Amino acid sequence: PSLTTRLYSEEDSVVILTSATVKQTLLNSSTAWLVQFYSSWCGHCIQYSPTWKALAGDVKDWEHAIRIGVLDCAQENNFDICKEFGIHFYPTFRYFKARGPTFDVGKTYRGADRELQTVRQLMVNFLQNHTTQDWPVSCPPLEPYSSADILPLIGQKSNQYTAVIVENEDSYVGREVILDLMMYQGLTVKRALSSEKSLTEKLGINSFPSAYLLHPNGTHAILHVQKRLRFFFSSFLKLLLGVHRKLSTSGAPQELPVSLIFSRSKVYMADLESGLHYLLRVELATHQTLEGEELKTFKDFVTVVAKLFPGRQSVVKLLETLLEWLVSLPLEKIPFDAILDLVNNKMRISGMFLSDQLQWVGCQGSRVGLRGYPCSLWTLFHVLTVQAASRPDALANTGLEENPKAVLQTMRKYIVNFFGCQECGKHFEEMAVASLPQVKSVDQAVLWLWRKHNQVNGRLAGTMSEDPHFPKTQWPSPDLCPTCHEEQDGIHVWNEDKVLMFLKQHYGAANISPKHMY
Ligand code: FAD
Repeated sequence: PSLTTRLYSEEDSVVILTSATVKQTLLNSSTAWLVQFYSSWCGHCIQYSPTWKALAGDVKDWEHAIRIGVLDCAQENNFDICKEFGIHFYPTFRYFKARGPTFDVGKTYRGADRELQTVRQLMVNFLQNHTTQDWPVSCPPLEPYSSADILPLIGQKSNQYTAVIVENEDSYVGREVILDLMMYQGLTVKRALSSEKSLTEKLGINSFPSAYLLHPNGTHAILHVQKRLRFFFSSFLKLLLGVHRKLSTSGAPQELPVSLIFSRSKVYMADLESGLHYLLRVELATHQTLEGEELKTFKDFVTVVAKLFPGRQSVVKLLETLLEWLVSLPLEKIPFDAILDLVNNKMRISGMFLSDQLQWVGCQGSRVGLRGYPCSLWTLFHVLTVQAASRPDALANTGLEENPKAVLQTMRKYIVNFFGCQECGKHFEEMAVASLPQVKSVDQAVLWLWRKHNQVNGRLAGTMSEDPHFPKTQWPSPDLCPTCHEEQDGIHVWNEDKVLMFLKQHYGAANISPKHMY
């Protein structure tokens, strides 16, 4: 049976509990739990659900220490279990300690303040209420370290980084960063208090919170971030060379066989062309003939790419010629071989060609099967949405010129009809149904794709799809775009105006590097 309830779905980072699972989940759990017992007909619960989902997303990386659950008491098969837990009002928030040996109805949080930041801080307090006996197995220490613990580490070589967050006693930043990084290896985060004078003097720190980084090679320095906020510290540390998300399978991650040096702040033409090559000659080539909806999708795709792709002349010319050919054909059915023949042979003679090599640069993975083609497809569509926004006349006389969603609709149809990963297509379609109608301008289209891509990143973080050397983060990280990030009431928020400017610059034609092209 589907675990989807009216307010929460499997897409959210919350664990949906039911009468069948709740007891065995909470009993002797390796993690602590914070569970909201709610009722899907209670107005307040409905209003509160976005906060609860946002909280669960915000602390997703803490899930081996404390997890967020929900149980819908309005579902008939949950009536009895809610009675057993003694739930009288909705929502009721209950904490459950890790490693509870017997059935326990949990402790109720009665505070009126249910803002995300307050609840997140309560989670930290609650974790710290555990004793050494019931401490969640994977939860790192949260107590502050003294000068005597930290000073001897300075200048020492080590097999990993140590980051020390020095802050006032009432600040939660240090503990939040410790928990944010608990799924990562290659780094330990420790918290120290600003009252440790010998430490602050030695490190030269006089404003709090500050972070100090001890490198494996024994060097050390203050960590410079644009804003001294949780998100900035955590993002910086996750991106250190040699720091990886722990793999679910045991064993150290292999060294990255970086064959090509590339910059994360660039887009590479080699990725875009390799993506087009793979799409045309491999993915589409599995379709023997194109007709009906598939043919229409293919034509729209070629139209959008021919008009908007800011590529080399030989490639743009090839796409334009392919488009002319498709438009001039009155056929209802086209054998794909004919298209391949045109692309591979006929056009080459006139100097129009698309490289037939796969050369991943910004999209290179640490092993085969990771990154590559899907990475290039995202990149291509980001580039196309940005082109559509920067060159309003580019789609003139194609029938698509009035439509600010032309690129996104083409992408959506391509993904559904042709993208080899069917699960991906299904998820993408769900997102499109839910929110694509709200896109009303070419700028909103750029932002929509960015937002949805981050939603996918959030869902895939820590799964098998993630290349441990390229962790899935909410993008752009603060080092790429510091002004994109802000904090309001302790919650990370995007400055979308700045994000839009950044996307236009990052995916703009001027930022596409021709390096490593054949
Ligand atoms: P990618 O996510 O492919 O991103 C490529 C590059 O884009 C990044 O390196 C970064 O430079 C940039 N970037 C990252 N985030 C953003 C953003 N928010 N906005 C703009 N640029 C950004 N895989 C699954 O396992 N399950 C799925 O359901 C799934 N759905 C997918 C749906 C679509 C439409 C596509 C194209 C791919 C999907 N994939 C899915 C594949 C997955 O999203 C990744 O493409 C793949 O795992 C490779 O990841 P990557 O690390 O190369 O980064």
